[in-house]
Amino acid sequence: MLIDTHSHINFDSYHGDRAEMLESARVAGVEKIVCIGMLPEGGREALALAKANPGRVYASVGCHPYDAALLDDAMMADFETLLREPECVLMGEMGVDTVKAEVPQDVQERAFARQVELAIRLDKPVCIHSREAFPIVERVIRGVRPQGWRGFAHCFSDGPEEALKWRDLGFLISFAGQVTFKNAQKLRDAVKALTPQDIVVETDCPFLAPTPHRGKRNEPAYVALTAQCIAEQWGIPVAEVAAHTTANARKMLGI
Ligand SMILES: [Zn+2]
Repeated sequence: MLIDTHSHINFDSYHGDRAEMLESARVAGVEKIVCIGMLPEGGREALALAKANPGRVYASVGCHPYDAALLDDAMMADFETLLREPECVLMGEMGVDTVKAEVPQDVQERAFARQVELAIRLDKPVCIHSREAFPIVERVIRGVRPQGWRGFAHCFSDGPEEALKWRDLGFLISFAGQVTFKNAQKLRDAVKALTPQDIVVETDCPFLAPTPHRGKRNEPAYVALTAQCIAEQWGIPVAEVAAHTTANARKMLGI
């Protein structure tokens, strides 16, 4: 059994076949799926999917670094309302992106810090988007609370050194489909530096479909391919990767 800790199954890409997509995930052994809702609108969509699929789909809500300039008091209040729903088990994605975000870095940092403060107050784990931004993200996190976090580095895209630093901060490291890409040796080296206790798996679907689906629409069923690739790095059965990552995700999310 697997848990996809980060998906966007509320997106229009699944408009025509969402029920079939969820069924394929079940057949592939994907027991639970977290739907990451961006901004309150996305959060409401994620929550509706969670309520319609109890025990199978869970919701998250937050302000992506791309949207950091939109975060205000009203939005924070909307987030709090959504996060008080039992199906909303995670806050995010949130963080800092120095590659694609057009929002100034100080604005991203402030939006990130406000959100981690709310997550702590509500005792929710956090899903962090860090793109070529680990030192900045680390500074914000240590500024709010130095250690003892519940949460994960979503779609981890750095190397072994950063992976171990995330672990030291108390976070799980989440691998997505890129770990299967030919040119991603750095990511596979990061896997090798970690243990089954340290990681979770995700799709970030509809983006980043693993090999052999690269370039096509991704979906939760394919998280099994990511788990398979990780099992090969460690030389252990994929069932063992599934058991550990599922236990890690359940503990972090309280599900
Ligand atoms: Zn995402």
